[in-house]
Amino acid sequence: MSQGYIKEIFSSFQGEGASVEGSCYGLRQIFIRFAGCPLSQGLLGTKGCRWCDSPEAKANQPKQCLIEEKAGLQSFGGINNPVTVENILEAIRNLTTNDLHSISFTGGEPLHQPEFLEKLLILLKKENYKIYLETAYTEDIDFLKRIIHLIDFACVDVKDRSAEASLNWEMLVEREIKMCEILKNNAKVFAKTVISKSSRKEDFEVIAKLCGRIGVPIVIQIVTPPAKSNILQPTWEQIIELSGIASEYLPPDKIGISVQMHKFLDIL
Ligand code: SF4
Repeated sequence: MSQGYIKEIFSSFQGEGASVEGSCYGLRQIFIRFAGCPLSQGLLGTKGCRWCDSPEAKANQPKQCLIEEKAGLQSFGGINNPVTVENILEAIRNLTTNDLHSISFTGGEPLHQPEFLEKLLILLKKENYKIYLETAYTEDIDFLKRIIHLIDFACVDVKDRSAEASLNWEMLVEREIKMCEILKNNAKVFAKTVISKSSRKEDFEVIAKLCGRIGVPIVIQIVTPPAKSNILQPTWEQIIELSGIASEYLPPDKIGISVQMHKFLDIL
């Protein structure tokens, strides 16, 4: 399919990750935010991730794709969805700046629109763009294997149990670690786990151990509590303890912490 549903396209800086390999933290990117995410829609038996900050995750087919008019301007025009790969290519060319590092495929869940994503990746690689994929889940492991040669950097959002993304948390984590393992065959990849005050160290240890087994770095991401939620950020003691746990399975240069820089600076 050469048409897909995109929520927005804009230029900014990558605001998540740390200084581990695979992260593009602080680097200039153009963001392609895909609409729809299976983990927001009860696919795995829950009401969806508890602290999802992406309204676009819930809407599979938004009417409009918002496109930043000029890189960094933060004002938008729009075109109707579904959009074509040519529409996106044109927007990317228009937003490309000399300091651009890579194109970030984010969401929502980019892997949820596989054929459209693949077509776009092929076109962008022909134009020598570097690709950063942000993903949390796919059922289609064969598809992931098929596109890994097109991915340069990847962040796999490995869900903490407290995110309530699945009734079968262990299965979800295994799937996400499998995705890291596959991506690692071509891309620089790291796992990101969002931690809140209600995260349990035993659960984090499960994730850290699996990351250690496949040699993939782990980033402890401090939750940004959604407005009007009762979600709390972890305490400093918790963060120190979790980093210590990670160090039982990974070397220091494969462990990091991160806050969401764009939320902190109130930018896109
Ligand atoms: S995986 Fe990400 S986009 Fe999807 S529901 Fe969870 S937090 Fe939202």
